[in-house]
Amino acid sequence: MLGHLTKAAGYGLLGGVEYLLGAIRGRGRGPEQRRAEVVLAFLLRMGPIYIKIGQIAATRSDLLPESWVQTLRVLQDQAPHMPVDQTRRAIERELGAALEATFVSFDPTPIASASVAQVHVAELSDGRKVAVKLVKDAVPEQLEQSLRALATLVRLVHLAVPPVRNLNLPKRFEELARLLRPQADMTHEADRQQRIYANFRAHPFVKVPAVVPELVTRRMLVMEYMDGIPGKHADTVPFPRARLAQRLQDVIYTMLYMHGICHGDPHPGNVMFTEAGEVVLVDYGVTVELSEDEKWGLSSFYYACSRKEWEIATDRFTRHFVIAGKPLHQRRSAYDAQMIEILRHHFDLSTNRWSTVAFFNDVNAVLRQYDSRYTTNFTKVELVFLSGEGFATQIDPDIDIWSNARNFTDRYSPYVSTEVAQRFEAEFTLQMPTSLGLRDRARSSLVAPTHIDRYFFPSGFPVFVKEAAGGSIKDFDGNEYIDLSGGYGPHLLGYAHPAITSAITAGVDRGLVNGIGHVAEIELAELLVDAFPAADKAILCNSGTEAILFALRICRGYRRRTAVAKFEGHYHGFADQGMVSSWFRFSGDRHHPEPVAGTLGTDPATVAGTVVLQYGDIGGLDRLRAHADELACVILEPMPTSVVALDLEFLTELRRVCTELDIPLVFDEVVSGFRAAYGGVQVLADIHPDLTCLGKVIGGGLPCGAVIGKQALIDMAKSSQDPFNDYENKVFAGGTLSGNSLTCTAGLAAVRHLGTHPEIYPMLDANTARLAEAMREAVRQRELACRINARNSMFSLNFSHREAGLYRERMAGSNFKATIALAYYMRKHQVYLPELHGFLISAAHSIEDLDQVAHAFEKSLDEMLADQLFVT
Ligand code: PLP
Repeated sequence: MLGHLTKAAGYGLLGGVEYLLGAIRGRGRGPEQRRAEVVLAFLLRMGPIYIKIGQIAATRSDLLPESWVQTLRVLQDQAPHMPVDQTRRAIERELGAALEATFVSFDPTPIASASVAQVHVAELSDGRKVAVKLVKDAVPEQLEQSLRALATLVRLVHLAVPPVRNLNLPKRFEELARLLRPQADMTHEADRQQRIYANFRAHPFVKVPAVVPELVTRRMLVMEYMDGIPGKHADTVPFPRARLAQRLQDVIYTMLYMHGICHGDPHPGNVMFTEAGEVVLVDYGVTVELSEDEKWGLSSFYYACSRKEWEIATDRFTRHFVIAGKPLHQRRSAYDAQMIEILRHHFDLSTNRWSTVAFFNDVNAVLRQYDSRYTTNFTKVELVFLSGEGFATQIDPDIDIWSNARNFTDRYSPYVSTEVAQRFEAEFTLQMPTSLGLRDRARSSLVAPTHIDRYFFPSGFPVFVKEAAGGSIKDFDGNEYIDLSGGYGPHLLGYAHPAITSAITAGVDRGLVNGIGHVAEIELAELLVDAFPAADKAILCNSGTEAILFALRICRGYRRRTAVAKFEGHYHGFADQGMVSSWFRFSGDRHHPEPVAGTLGTDPATVAGTVVLQYGDIGGLDRLRAHADELACVILEPMPTSVVALDLEFLTELRRVCTELDIPLVFDEVVSGFRAAYGGVQVLADIHPDLTCLGKVIGGGLPCGAVIGKQALIDMAKSSQDPFNDYENKVFAGGTLSGNSLTCTAGLAAVRHLGTHPEIYPMLDANTARLAEAMREAVRQRELACRINARNSMFSLNFSHREAGLYRERMAGSNFKATIALAYYMRKHQVYLPELHGFLISAAHSIEDLDQVAHAFEKSLDEMLADQLFVT
């Protein structure tokens, strides 16, 4: 066929049409074939928009006869192209120079030609082989003309045919036109391609050609050349068909659910395969972008479907993706009943014969009855599902789309699937029956949101501890586990450290004192202030959350302003402010996040009064200038513990901007304080805040918190001895047990021990590096997509192919199901890993302990591979 096209070059576009038809005619024709050819000829004569429509139709083997699909498929990559001379002129116009000045070789015969552009192979002077995508001359103008003509036609139909008026065709056409117009603009396409490239850069089986940015113009896009077997010849790929089709589906779902930016047109002309079964995606002319809220909507809808919760699924679908007409509001329960019926029919009764087309057709029919329709964006998502799943079905007619989709939504959910849960239940019933018994007993009297009933990553198989000592815990069934939770942070020296235990025992013997002066509180304050170069004074309290509350109140009082700037993904305790945009749910553009409540019950004013920034995004700090007049303070974890990353350049700039704007900078070192170093991250980084919040380690295992910092700020809580002045100009800090004698005694013992044993820190750092490297090696050997970040005794582990970047993006690539399952596999091998994606080591862990952890990790990965927790 390409041979025909080469000859066609001399004939221009219309000559090409004749050649194409000639080529097709050679195949032997029936009446269907002839009809398809007439349509093909019509589409080709009418120009790029029509060719596009034909391309989409060619993916619909479920709707069109095979002969039509075959005929229209030529539009996917074999539409007519420009003659050779014209091509050269067009390229040189874009380069502003002779072709040879940029390319040492250039093949004038395109390797592909579709509705808008043609693609040539060339070589750059540095030896790189590239693909040059060139918009065909006159296409932008033709595109515009066709769109205008079609818009007029659509408006006429809208006016002249009353029954279709409620479809609001002109508006929908305008939406379509908005999608199609940028197709002839290669700068737009290059931008999308670069983003999708970045998302898949480290993916095990997806390849996106890298853009050569200096060779991108409105009409030309130069990119890395990638060879592959064209999608339409997928049957010749020497890789199991079923896995290939599953991979294709997985790629599309990853883009939609996880990345939020998706190839908008995954038909066979835009997909290639390598012999190793890699999926190469090309042509980013149409992309679909989903907001954080839409991604959330899509995942939550499918999740409800996978749990067969049809009412919830209907509600989620309607809320996120339907523009409801009046009849839907008026007859909501009838609508719900019809939708529930459709969901049940498709997701439950006919799952082994899942048909995306049939599902969307049924939903559309119901929506029409209620004068309602999909949101514009969901219309695009529907198209992606249809063409992607249509193609996957062509590759493997037996593909179980729904079961693959289910795996996918399960993977996103932070819960184990029912099957896995049942297996663990059986295994742990043998291994730790007493713990499971206690778990069940707790159900009737206790809600333990901090461990058993955790809001996110709840613990299905909790260990109940009989004894804890050093780096280990023992349960009631004789199991001993190496503990990597460290009680979420306090136990840096290990459990029951003799220095702390003896101090506590002596403290108890002296009587528990609170709310009356004692020496330990002064000594602890002195020790804390001494450890931080930028701190003058301390206020003691009972937890990290309280320390944050005090710090915020102090800053609000000091600045007489209420808004708070915080960072996406940074958790600052369980109070309203600390949880805004802190985890799991995000909103708004990646560079301009919108604040979102962390939990039901949050005061909306707190959310509205939050400016959310991105750690590491220096450009984003301009927003501090924009909001300077409203802000009480900026708060962040200088080394975010959920991802364990330290960006010194960013922190330096943040410090500079806060000083310039005179906005107090608050470091939350509740986790990192006395863990990352004696003092905290600020000592390591030599970047100092105005206030620091502490907790965890400084209580030696008892409830404790502190806010320390500059005198002018801390003294906001100090009485002026004039109650009238205090009421107007001071902030209140209290707490019955704040600074109680026992906590201070335990904290003193812990911090003193750390101060007198400075060798602990380099040892922890070395042990961290050793364990991290052993774990990374285990991952490498198994070619798994897993990111392990670790430093200063803190670890973050994500089963994700995505490299470091924004917190939301790291989370969005994560295989949560594998993360939570890992905790249980490790538990079977005598390692207690919390179900979260982070863990800690302590000074009590020996090298042997760490090697045992690494070994358990290897065994767990092998079992997880065997149990198919990873798509391969
Ligand atoms: N800040 C950070 C960074 C934390 O990780 C936590 C708790 O994990 C807190 C604050 C709140 O501390 P607490 O749980 O002691 O209230």
